[in-house]
Amino acid sequence: MPRYIPTIGLEVHVQLKTRSKMFCGCPAEYGAAPNTHTCPVCLGYPGALPVMNGEALKMTALAGLMLGCDIAPKCKFDRKNYFYPDMPKNYQITQFDLPICIGGGVPLHEFAYPKDAQKGIAHPGKVVKLTRIHLEEDVAKSTHFDTNSGIDFNRAGTPLMEIVSEPDIESPEEAFAYLTSLQQILIYGGVSDADMEKGQLRCDCNVSVRPEGQKELGVKIEIKNMNSISAVRRAVAYEIKRQIVACERGETLVQSTRGWDDAIGQTRHQRTKESTHDYRYFPDPDLLPVDTTVFMPEVRAKRPELPGEKRDRFVAEFGVTNYDASVLASERALAEFFDTAAKGARKPKSVANWIINDLLSALTAAEKTISDCPISAHSLDELVSLIDDGKISSKQGKEVFAEMFGTGKSAAQIVKERGLEQVSDTGAIEALCKQVMDANPKAVAEYKAGKLGSINFLKGQVLKNSQGRANPQVVNDLLAKLLA
Ligand code: ZN
Ligand code: MN
Repeated sequence: MPRYIPTIGLEVHVQLKTRSKMFCGCPAEYGAAPNTHTCPVCLGYPGALPVMNGEALKMTALAGLMLGCDIAPKCKFDRKNYFYPDMPKNYQITQFDLPICIGGGVPLHEFAYPKDAQKGIAHPGKVVKLTRIHLEEDVAKSTHFDTNSGIDFNRAGTPLMEIVSEPDIESPEEAFAYLTSLQQILIYGGVSDADMEKGQLRCDCNVSVRPEGQKELGVKIEIKNMNSISAVRRAVAYEIKRQIVACERGETLVQSTRGWDDAIGQTRHQRTKESTHDYRYFPDPDLLPVDTTVFMPEVRAKRPELPGEKRDRFVAEFGVTNYDASVLASERALAEFFDTAAKGARKPKSVANWIINDLLSALTAAEKTISDCPISAHSLDELVSLIDDGKISSKQGKEVFAEMFGTGKSAAQIVKERGLEQVSDTGAIEALCKQVMDANPKAVAEYKAGKLGSINFLKGQVLKNSQGRANPQVVNDLLAKLLA
């Protein structure tokens, strides 16, 4: 039986975070009452003229820069003609043969893979090649009711970036890693919130299989309607299996579009593509070609340090593990929090541990994000220093942390209010040690007779008498010295 090789290419549509729409001044925000953000341009009235959104062009160029694309010095907009109720002017303004970004790639780092697939990655360090990124306008949103349909034009004409990959992805896990990594980079650059569940990032997958040894790709089948990255993984895995079973039964696969039903975990046939549509593309006569060189210096200055670059720097600069660095770098706000807290910290590794083990779970439990975190980066650094300097125990540190999170007070203030500061003053501790030794002559005698474990009993008594405030290490050292 031949082995089959899957080939996957992804087309990702991303909503840009601009204030206004692509070719008119209507707000590009979501959640408003249907058809309230409209004007003659985005409703497609005859004679209404489009005006390009410069911010959308710059954001797309920034996305391209972050993904290592070549930015075309000159790009243009074309009309893609088709007839459908969500597009009343009967064409979509998009980019045909001169897109703004060409080439580039999405790096698949180890931790972008699903957790259960991070071991045994087939191609570590792989970069999935991109064909192009172009800019277009979104169409209106149709909603189908029982007996009729409704169309909301608030979404019509909002800027949409289309990122097309080469058929360079070989497994459902790579598709997952591609989307995770792409999403991280887009959010870093502030070009999109890229939330799949909100439809800000929409993904179509082209999947085919071919027997090992066969050069040409198998019949391409497109899957639509996935609303999470893990759903993409499930849909692609299902589709690969389905196609292999069909091939082994000797069935002929037909180029078609399938929908993914996440509830039952199956793709279902939607329509057959008879032939590629003739969209009769032609340059939009209402829009001039764009000279991108005019704004590229401004865009270059906005390129942030990318997740992968941050990860490597955290390992080199702060000595944290590769895993910790990747968790910390996964979100720009979190990375900036760590950067601030770790700068100047004596043990940046402890700061990383507190963020990953305590802060992130506290945020999740409180349904908060790092952006509305009640503890500032500086305040966390202060807490970690108090523990590392032996001023409070790590157990006390947990209590202080909980109060910091609940009240927003600083670590120093809480330690002071609760009288938690450990006594490291040797004079005071020595006096306590002597008292305990005088009160427990039996234990002292046993220690001197060679039963060294007796020191722990004495130590416990000293700590108890100090109400837990004596520094345990200092107590230990002093007792050993006094008993010698
Ligand atoms: Zn409008
Ligand atoms: Mn498109």
